[in-house]
Amino acid sequence: MGDTIFGKIVRHEIPADIVFENDEVLAFRDLNPQAPVHVLFVPKRTIATLNDATGADAELLGKLLLAAASYAKQEGFDKEGYRTVINCNEHGGQTVFHLHVHLLAGRRMTWPPG
Ligand code: C5P
Repeated sequence: MGDTIFGKIVRHEIPADIVFENDEVLAFRDLNPQAPVHVLFVPKRTIATLNDATGADAELLGKLLLAAASYAKQEGFDKEGYRTVINCNEHGGQTVFHLHVHLLAGRRMTWPPG
């Protein structure tokens, strides 16, 4: 799997509304938000899908989730709650093949998801 739009965002080649960045993770607002708050947490190292993650990515995957949780706490979504989602491949609804964690907050979520 080659480069994606998220690769270009990670390299700051195209603009995005970035809310968090460190050496390994970038987070930016989704262009088509599905909740009042919809932020995508993206590893700077490209992993196409969750299927492609290996043991070598275990720490990075943990850091992605912790970055999302830390942002939720910082913004005060932690008490009411929020949802994190990783879509994988066609049935999962994945459209950008650079692994990312969706953080959705600011409204009550429903279950099952669509
Ligand atoms: O999980 P999935 O691959 O479907 O998520 C991709 C997400 O990336 C979508 O929510 C879409 O709105 C978002 N997106 C974006 N900016 C782009 C392209 C896609 O925020 N330039």
